[in-house]
Parts: sequence; structure tokens; C-alpha cells
Amino acid sequence: MVSLIPSPDTVMQTLTRTGAFRVGHFVYPTGKHSPHYFQMPLAFRYYDTARVLAVALSRKFRLERDISSQLPKIAVISPSSGGIPVAFGVRDALSSEQIYWAEREADGKRMFRQYVNQGEVNPCIIVDDIIRTGHALEETATLVKELGATIIGCGAIVRFTSAPDHLEDVPIKALVEFDAHMYDTADLCNDCKENAPVEHVRF
Ligand SMILES: [Zn+2]
Repeated sequence: MVSLIPSPDTVMQTLTRTGAFRVGHFVYPTGKHSPHYFQMPLAFRYYDTARVLAVALSRKFRLERDISSQLPKIAVISPSSGGIPVAFGVRDALSSEQIYWAEREADGKRMFRQYVNQGEVNPCIIVDDIIRTGHALEETATLVKELGATIIGCGAIVRFTSAPDHLEDVPIKALVEFDAHMYDTADLCNDCKENAPVEHVRF
């Protein structure tokens, strides 16, 4: 079973081929510069690719006794819209019972849809397409606990190595651990020194 999890190199090849991993000179809304950018929905637009990635991530969860022993009474939860295809794919592979996703309201607050009630949410696995800082996971963990549910797993297709590797006590699984190069300002950016044209990214 373990051998069916594709290597990080194989996953990166898939992300590059689909346009989800991009090399260039990018400026984030925070003002940070980077020579790399992930636009993960570009990988998940292809059904077969989406399925391969989600099944691979699901295998990492199935290896955890605390998770496999509780199936199918598990909820797979996405912190945001980007994680929804991951959540559906992981749910399919695990045959778990529930899916939830959080969204940002107009005021920026992350919430579940109204009428999701305390006590209804199974022990949960939180999954996302990419973990850049871990903030989305932490906010979602708070929501989950407010609903009285426990977190038994967490993972993403890609995790930046600068992000936390645990969500509370739970280790974060990822198919790729990516060492992202981020420059806090243009002064520090190698591509700026070479006057490379910039692309502004929205997330
Ligand atoms: Zn730059």
C-alpha cells in the first residue's frame, strides 16, 4: 500500500505538467517576492490528476490506526474552497461519512455554513490543497472544536517547510514538503536584481 504513494518528485512533475507549479518572478499581496508559485486548482481541474493526488493523500491517512479504526464515521473538512476537491477525493478513497468546508465571510472571518450544529460533526481530518502558513488550518481547527469535534488527521498535497508540521498534536501529512524561497522585500529579491518582469499573484 505504501508503495502506491507517488514520490515527491512524481507529484512535482504532475504539478508542473498541469501548470499548478510555476517558475518565474512572483509578488504576493503581502509584498513578498518568490521565484515559485503554486496555483493548485490547475492540477485539480483534471479529474484523473485530482483523483491520483487525493488517493495518494488518503493512503497516508489510512496508515494511521487512529484514523483507519474510526472509518467510516469520519468527517473530511476543507478550510477553504481550494481544499474542496481534495476533501471530496480523500472522502471517496476512505469512504468516510461526512464532508464540510469553511469559507471566508465578507468580513474575512472563516466559518462553516449556518445550521451545522454542535455534536453533528464526526471526528475529523482537515485537508487542504496547499499549506503556506498554516493559518487557515488553525482557524479551521478552532471552528471544529467549537462544534465539539476532535481532530484526528491533517494533510495537504503540498506543505511549505516554513509552515508548522503539526496541527496541535496531530502530524500534518503532505505529498510534497516544499522549501519555498520567499523574499520579504524587493531589495532582497534575486530576480529584482536582474530586473526580471514581475507577475502579481492574488493569493
Ligand atoms: Zn522580486
